[in-house]
Amino acid sequence: MSRLPEAAVTRRGRLNYGKRSVKEENRQTGGLGEVLPPLSAHEARVEAYRCLYCYDAPCTHACPTHIDVPGFIKKIATGNLRGSARTIMEANILGATCARVCPVEELCEGACVLNAEGRPIMIGRLQRHATDHLFERGIRLFRPGRPTGRRVAVVGAGPAGLACAAELGRLGHAVTLFEKRPLPGGLSTYGIIVLREPVEVALAEAEMIAELGVDIRTDTELGRDVTLEALREEYDAVFLGIGLGGSPDLGIPGEELVEDGLAWIERSKFEPEKMTVGDEVYVIGAGNTAIDAATIARRLGAERVTILYRRSEREMPAYRHEYAFARKEGIDFRFLTQPVRILATDGRITGIECVRMRLGKADASGRAAPEPVSGSEFTLPADQVIKAIGQKKPELLADLGLATEKGYVRVDEAYRTSIEKVYAGGDCIRAVGAASTVMAVQDGKLAARAIDADLGLATAAAAE
Ligand SMILES: Cc1cc2nc3c(=O)[nH]c(=O)nc-3n(C[C@H](O)[C@H](O)[C@H](O)COP(=O)(O)OP(=O)(O)OC[C@H]3O[C@@H](n4cnc5c(N)ncnc54)[C@H](O)[C@@H]3O)c2cc1C
Ligand code: SF4
Repeated sequence: MSRLPEAAVTRRGRLNYGKRSVKEENRQTGGLGEVLPPLSAHEARVEAYRCLYCYDAPCTHACPTHIDVPGFIKKIATGNLRGSARTIMEANILGATCARVCPVEELCEGACVLNAEGRPIMIGRLQRHATDHLFERGIRLFRPGRPTGRRVAVVGAGPAGLACAAELGRLGHAVTLFEKRPLPGGLSTYGIIVLREPVEVALAEAEMIAELGVDIRTDTELGRDVTLEALREEYDAVFLGIGLGGSPDLGIPGEELVEDGLAWIERSKFEPEKMTVGDEVYVIGAGNTAIDAATIARRLGAERVTILYRRSEREMPAYRHEYAFARKEGIDFRFLTQPVRILATDGRITGIECVRMRLGKADASGRAAPEPVSGSEFTLPADQVIKAIGQKKPELLADLGLATEKGYVRVDEAYRTSIEKVYAGGDCIRAVGAASTVMAVQDGKLAARAIDADLGLATAAAAE
């Protein structure tokens, strides 16, 4: 009997985890299916044999969750896929998601010694091979720990919240996970494009975590349906993994006609068949979300998709490999260009008025600050504009009374916030560094261990 909400189970049943071919996936999703095919058993073994099983392996150091990479690869080489998946998931419970979404070029594969020969080990795809083996067969590796009698509330069922809940469940604490959306998974379910991760992978992981005894209550929002005070009273500790907010405003005339990039990506995951795309599409922003939004537009059939960015190619926040991918997809880039007005007739976009920019001195972010060149305004014909300029800071923090740093939750080295018994992790604390799924997973896991240690201390103190 599944413990996930009915919508999640139906969705998962319909998509049938891992059983469809990439071709079939693409046929059903109109070209939006997973880009990388799974490795066959033979391909995985051949790749695993190439690994040098380095001592003090740099790939393991480069992984934020410190997966024993040579350890799991050796198990693939010897045909022990279950053991391989265990090695991965002991360190990273969301190993199936991270196998797909991690920027491996920047992390483990980027650190592989075989880069010297130009062919690093395909660590991400091997990780996927091992973890898919489990989920395709419904194998469960972990059980709830012996009950401690302690109760912890986790808010937000994204990677941080799920990883925290899983670790707490394995340690024997009773966990209730509150999620405001209808499905668990956070951005893995709603934000990461299907080309990288199908929805059913995130849902299958959430189901596995529910089976660790975690009570997942969806459609339940902190600040609307429950208060922090009530959670602090009812539970021994509270973990906040609430991520970030929606898209910020552009603040230009005609903004109401612009598509929101996050909503655009979400629709591509749940109802691609209902989406309409223009011929001349512009995407504002040059981070990874902008590239994802542009890729969707291109794959849905837009004739021309152009990314507009106010700084130069050098400052763009997207990963280099994402930039190369976008170029391959036929996406154009227009740098040093700032939109100042959306032009429309009868409520339909006809163009974008822009101004050319030049780079000045470095700003607070350390990057050269763009300045408009006066008198350089020009118009680009357009019939669709999508904004993908990041996410707002978590909006709830002021109401909760939490101390913040640059708009993010301030935590100490043990993920404790300024409010007693309240911990936080994931994107909502990421005041510095690039936010990523694997970082959120590591936060959740370490915060759970910190909570466990603090609860242990509390027990000892109470016993004295
Ligand atoms: C479009 C996009 C693409 C991305 N692609 C990648 C990628 O390819 N690889 C990668 O590594 N990273 C990627 N990221 C970043 C990655 O998704 C995040 O770093 C990661 O999801 C952070 O996890 P989290 O749990 O902190 O937050 P989230 O995933 O945002 O989860 C937070 C959860 O909390 C819930 N919540 C919020 N407020 C409340 C409340 N008041 N009450 C109850 N629940 C609440 C939300 O509904 C959500 O489910 C991408 C981000 C975006 C926006
Ligand atoms: S660095 Fe490369 S070769 Fe060495 S253990 Fe890691 S994956 Fe294998």
